[in-house]
Amino acid sequence: MLEAVLMMTILGLILGLLLAIAAKVFYVKVDQRIEEVRAMLPGLDCGGCGYAGCNAFAEALCSGDAKTVKLCRPSKPAAREAIAEYINKTPDADGNITKVDF
Ligand code: SF4
Repeated sequence: MLEAVLMMTILGLILGLLLAIAAKVFYVKVDQRIEEVRAMLPGLDCGGCGYAGCNAFAEALCSGDAKTVKLCRPSKPAAREAIAEYINKTPDADGNITKVDF
């Protein structure tokens, strides 16, 4: 009985260690700004900006692929300004700042 408990404890420790290593190796950095910018966009997913939808446009703005928020014509000027100000002031996961116009 004691051997079985000991074996299960050792097995649990080994599997836990493997999970911890896998979590470190396969860690993917997530740019939190994308979700914030996505929430500030109109959410119509109309494609008028030239991207597949609002989420794709938010990704493009945060990555620097899209240089201006003006591409989203359905958004109001105040919202565009707020989005540009947020992106221009908020660093990504690596501490880099992206510059966009409104
Ligand atoms: S134009 Fe604006 S509302 Fe339409 S998909 Fe692009 S970001 Fe969304």
